[in-house]
Amino acid sequence: MTPQFGAFTASELYCPKCKRAQPVREKLLLVLPSGELHEFLCVGCGSSLAKRTSSGPAVSAPAPAPPRSSARRRPLLG
Ligand SMILES: [Zn+2]
Repeated sequence: MTPQFGAFTASELYCPKCKRAQPVREKLLLVLPSGELHEFLCVGCGSSLAKRTSSGPAVSAPAPAPPRSSARRRPLLG
């Protein structure tokens, strides 16, 4: 009896080293201001199979419009 529970949250990707579809392990590579860069590693040989950028929380504040300094006074010419 070999009970196998397919409780893998990560998907399987084809690994050229293992020459077969292998389950992958997600690893956090970088934390960018725009999101997080994850890498999918083969659980068999540990080679990088894919990368993914997950968009983080929406923290992009709207850029405030620069104040226009068009209040220039022209001298009146008589
Ligand atoms: Zn592999």
